[in-house]
Amino acid sequence: MNSKPSGAHSLVTQLLHDDTPSAPGFDAFPVAVARASTVVFPDLATMRDFRFEDDTQWRYGLHGTPTSRTLERRLAMIEGGKHALLQPSGLASISNVYFAFLRQGDDVLVPDNAYTPNRDHGDWLARDFGVSVRYYDPMIGAGIAALLQDNTRLVWVEAPGSVTMEVPDVPAIAAAAHAHGAGRERGVIVAIDNTYAAGLSFKPFEHGCDVSVQALTKYQSGASDVLMGATISNDAAIHGALKRARMRLGLGVSADDCSLLLRSLATLEIRYAAHERTALSLAAWLKLRPEIDCVLHPGLPDCAGHEHWRRDFTGAGGLFSVIFEPSYSAEQVDAFVEGLSLFKIGFSWGGAHSLAVPYRIGAMRTASEWPHSGQLVRFFIGLESEDDLRADLEQSLSTHLVQSPA
Ligand SMILES: *Cc1c(COP(=O)(O)O)cnc(C)c1O
Repeated sequence: MNSKPSGAHSLVTQLLHDDTPSAPGFDAFPVAVARASTVVFPDLATMRDFRFEDDTQWRYGLHGTPTSRTLERRLAMIEGGKHALLQPSGLASISNVYFAFLRQGDDVLVPDNAYTPNRDHGDWLARDFGVSVRYYDPMIGAGIAALLQDNTRLVWVEAPGSVTMEVPDVPAIAAAAHAHGAGRERGVIVAIDNTYAAGLSFKPFEHGCDVSVQALTKYQSGASDVLMGATISNDAAIHGALKRARMRLGLGVSADDCSLLLRSLATLEIRYAAHERTALSLAAWLKLRPEIDCVLHPGLPDCAGHEHWRRDFTGAGGLFSVIFEPSYSAEQVDAFVEGLSLFKIGFSWGGAHSLAVPYRIGAMRTASEWPHSGQLVRFFIGLESEDDLRADLEQSLSTHLVQSPA
């Protein structure tokens, strides 16, 4: 095909090398989607002068583009941190933390109520990679000092646990860990899974944490359509360790997904407040129902660690659990969950839709007694109308939990 309309180059070359600046003077609210693998250097000196530590330089799309860096900057801003890094899921962020800080022979402490895939990741490292992973009672507080060993390098906290809703004493755990690590060549890193708070209602760096993990899949996405995670930190050395591990693991995110998150971030705070309002109201209503033994909502006194929530948190979001009266069987409670119509059955949360999932907690714990014998159901309260959600709960309770408690 002959296509040489003008100039010295053929059409295909002209199309590839058209470098007319795009849209000078154009301004708009959305962050532009910068998709890139190759980043073009102006000359070899710039290419060779690249410094990995410098977050203002560009090297390769996997490590960051203007779109992903804008999202990272805003996430750090929300959390009160200085640095953020994106990973392709919340679990990838958790994995990034493990690989950034651990060496063979190190010891890790994980709360007994941790997000189950975090437990599984820890067990995998303990089985196949020569680290020791031990579980602790999430309500241990300053008592964690007794568990810290010479080789303890990483302490996880989750505030609150996303199913049992126990709110740990984060400042006490962090203070004990840091006191233990003080003066050592490699101190103790305190990493929090801060997904429940979305970075809004709990400020991890004011409470002694070194790294915060967000499953952006939840509230930050807000629409059940993006999988992503972030690690946020306040210290250049910690950020550098996370960044180097992220590069070695080959973790990157798409600019299109970042763009969806940037779009949702604008409404994060008002959505969180709306989830919280309806959730608190329905939790209080459930507490009065005869079928319910207790309501595990950090903002209500039944919940272990409620006093820590009152001291350290400024909000609650849409997640809570209930314990049914022990006279109801697992089958009856399952029937209640399946009898709901607006509440859907499914993992994850943080979107517009309400969800309900039964959990068998006893089987998940190895380091602490679970004090409840009744069945647990975790609710995520979406953005539906409160009256409609209450009516849905009411109809399924009265249809499926007819036997009056003993
Ligand atoms: C969902 C979740 C994660 C993991 O997020 P993904 O993006 O689904 O991998 C981590 N921690 C908590 C508490 C979560 O709820």
